[in-house]
Amino acid sequence: MHDPSPARRPPAEPIFEELGIVRDPRSLFHQVVEQVLVAADLAALPHHQRIILAQPKNEVMVHFPVLMDDGHHRLFKGYRVQHNNALGPYKGGLRYHHRLALDDVKALAVLMTMKCALAGLPFGGAKGGVKCSPRELSEGELRRVTRRFCSAISHQIGPHYDVPGPDVGTDAQVMAWFADTYAQMTPEHSRQDSLGVVTGKPVGFGGSHGRDKATGQGLVEVLDAMLPELGLDASTISFSVLGYGNVGSWTARLLASRGARLVAVLDHTGAIREDRGIDADALEAHVRRRGGVEGFAEATAIDEASFYGTEVDLLVPAALEQMIDASKAAQIKAAVVAEGANAPTTPEGDAVLMQRGVEVLPAILCNAGGVTVSYFEWVQNRTATWWSAEEVDRRLRGHMHAAVERVKVARRRHDCDLRTAAFAAACARIGEVYSLRGVFP
Ligand code: GLU
Repeated sequence: MHDPSPARRPPAEPIFEELGIVRDPRSLFHQVVEQVLVAADLAALPHHQRIILAQPKNEVMVHFPVLMDDGHHRLFKGYRVQHNNALGPYKGGLRYHHRLALDDVKALAVLMTMKCALAGLPFGGAKGGVKCSPRELSEGELRRVTRRFCSAISHQIGPHYDVPGPDVGTDAQVMAWFADTYAQMTPEHSRQDSLGVVTGKPVGFGGSHGRDKATGQGLVEVLDAMLPELGLDASTISFSVLGYGNVGSWTARLLASRGARLVAVLDHTGAIREDRGIDADALEAHVRRRGGVEGFAEATAIDEASFYGTEVDLLVPAALEQMIDASKAAQIKAAVVAEGANAPTTPEGDAVLMQRGVEVLPAILCNAGGVTVSYFEWVQNRTATWWSAEEVDRRLRGHMHAAVERVKVARRRHDCDLRTAAFAAACARIGEVYSLRGVFP
């Protein structure tokens, strides 16, 4: 068992001080950078590389008006934060959420840098989005928001420079509108090349087979590679899922199709439990119709505390950031937590899970499948080729298992927890590139 003491925290302090960052414990960005700097220390990154990673390269913030259905214009706020592009073009999702804030976007951009490096992709990290409630917008409003947002940031992105993809609140349709808008703004003779400006597009419009399920599938591949050494088998485990959107529902459906038993689900509408097993496909259809798990007839409604207290082999947090704090972590009765969402566990929650011996499989490993198939889509767009669903599955498996191996090697080398090991493996790859390139001039 590794040492969970916080003795490795200090490496961040001198860097924060030097950069004039006043550490705010509620800032997700500060928390993530702190974790990265701890890992950068283990990976022996030189000082100049640490200060580069401690801040995003570019932070773009835009305001744009959109005509609403009732005839008035509303002003929206959009973001694109580009953290690092040492390994390749910036890459990361666009989130539409009513509480989207710059601090979160910066944190998520750092996580993309780390995730792409760990997954062995030729991409850096970015994140963006629009502060809005997509569920409350009509289809026409959503389309106009997307087109105006794309035009507002069109000079900051590009298929060879920064490639957005889907995230919470955006889907293949949003990516299609985005790609079409970008194409309209591209000179006719290079318009075909513009298709690769976003990934996660519909299969009929330059998308890749397997992108929709990719994050869930990548998570299942990680479980296949990690569970045996924890004495568990992905085809016989019981599990619960927090959030039943793209990541949660695909993970549940793919695990259930292998024989695993889904016993509890919690989302923004309520929680349900059925010890004999919940039909993951039927629940997905219900959520699509009703907007959440509430009212699903083939399971019993439970409260939030009972959800966390449900005894399972595996819990998959697949909702938003920071849902598992110290008090939730104390209630969890799972042997393993596999983070489907980005940063779902607070540092305090993490410490509690560690003390209680719960194995946490970190997000930058578990949810790397989405951006990996985004990379496949980008390669297909650039080479004008089409891969079969089987080809995508095969390549995804290879990438995920290689990433798991990198984490295991880093854990052995540094004798640390899996999260720190994943960040250390990512830092080592970025550090190697910076050492080879040097710093201009
Ligand atoms: N939103 C996804 C993530 O957090 C990736 C988006 C993309 O494919 O670029 O990993």
